[in-house]
Amino acid sequence: MSAWSDLSLPHNLRERLVAEARAAPDIEICGFLARGDDGLIRHIITNRSERLADRFDMDPAEQIAAFRCMRERRARLIAIYHSHPIGEAVPSRHDIRGHSYPQAAALIIAPRALSGPGLRAWRLDDAGAKELELTWHTGAWHDARDAD
Ligand SMILES: [Zn+2]
Repeated sequence: MSAWSDLSLPHNLRERLVAEARAAPDIEICGFLARGDDGLIRHIITNRSERLADRFDMDPAEQIAAFRCMRERRARLIAIYHSHPIGEAVPSRHDIRGHSYPQAAALIIAPRALSGPGLRAWRLDDAGAKELELTWHTGAWHDARDAD
């Protein structure tokens, strides 16, 4: 595996993710970010966890549909995002254990973080969690649903 150490995203996507996380104070929001020939695509996935406030379990059918969409667009999963309605933008043990795509970053949005930035990215694999450098650019992105 390459030792990638950074993630670059459009800054208006940051604003959107923080606004959506803030608007869902009792639910961890979640989704995929994929990069393909036609730019960055965001796939919103419904959280089906029994513990919506502090866990996320992505809807299986929506995940399959998102991966089908990525294949059709030759897009690659670059990040899985979710929010922490309470607490810091740091992966929980459950997050590290449950991260099924080590080649994709874990992007955590914590609008009420007190001791650090409210949005941080991590590489999660068998070695644990390593924080990635997040940089922001002015590029565009769109929601998969908008384009379908
Ligand atoms: Zn988490």
